[in-house]
Amino acid sequence: MWALQIPPKLKLFVWQILHRILPTTEALIEKWVLVLPRCPMCCAESETMEHLFWECPVAAALWASSGLEHLGHDLSR
Ligand SMILES: [Zn+2]
Repeated sequence: MWALQIPPKLKLFVWQILHRILPTTEALIEKWVLVLPRCPMCCAESETMEHLFWECPVAAALWASSGLEHLGHDLSR
């Protein structure tokens, strides 16, 4: 992954996804950080990585508008 010709910030983002260390509200709560336990985009009761990338209606709309909706479904499995 580090050999990919993509911006360093994107490499770090992908690395965080692969290691499941994105600071979602669920992860912050596990670390005792005071945050509202809801998705800031749709107000769902939990913001997990699965919700952030696949289940959130905002994410679904982004996948649909990108033309990569099938890729999103494939990656979610
Ligand atoms: Zn959401």
